[in-house]
Amino acid sequence: MGTLSFDLDDVVTKTCAGLIVLPREHELVTRKARPIEEMHRIGKSACDQCSYCTEFCPRYLLGYQVMPHKVMRSLGFSTSGADLWNQWAELCCACGLCTLYACPEDLYPKEACDQAKHDMRAAGIKFEQTKEVEIHPMKEGRRVPLSMLRKRLKIEEYEREAPFADRKLQPPGVRLRLLQHTGVPARPVVRVGQKVGVGDPVATVEGDQLGANVHASVAGTVKTISDTFVEIEA
Ligand code: SF4
Ligand code: SF4
Repeated sequence: MGTLSFDLDDVVTKTCAGLIVLPREHELVTRKARPIEEMHRIGKSACDQCSYCTEFCPRYLLGYQVMPHKVMRSLGFSTSGADLWNQWAELCCACGLCTLYACPEDLYPKEACDQAKHDMRAAGIKFEQTKEVEIHPMKEGRRVPLSMLRKRLKIEEYEREAPFADRKLQPPGVRLRLLQHTGVPARPVVRVGQKVGVGDPVATVEGDQLGANVHASVAGTVKTISDTFVEIEA
């Protein structure tokens, strides 16, 4: 479900559950970095509608109307497939199991679902489940063991112990992202040159909007305010 970053100065935010550090040439990285048009083009030519992506889909097995193989079918209808996205994507949770594990042809059904959801939202099309949510009788039998998943992802050799290191860090400054949570970005409530203490709010979410306030993690002086971060010099 995660994103790729090639930036070693990237920061950890509230939505970061874990990090997997891999060589740039690792298959997972090259697959994830492939342009979306290329993913769709490959899918259009190679998907044989075996439906493994659907049969393994955890959301489908829970009884939701998610069928990535039908979404992949949309790719065959036109040059891009974009006008005719199949609505069976809407309830996909983007776990990526279909793309990274289920598809025997290494295609990109998860990415097709992502695109379909995005395009349908932009077109104002809303999909509503019509059938009753009923757990698939094969749900338990189709659970994917983590060891198999790790093997398939070829990440076993990178598994290392990563114990917590209780070290006091004293950075010369910090950049606090305005969007490090679900919802809308927080809006800065400080000005350049202002002194702040640890825990002081530097950006807040207005009214009843979904989001979270951002607080100073070091004491110091606000150095920069941009559209995406507030920088404090310690
Ligand atoms: S598993 Fe792969 S080949 Fe089979 S239907 Fe899904 S995308 Fe197509
Ligand atoms: S990414 Fe979506 S379609 Fe694919 S397995 Fe996960 S929930 Fe199902």
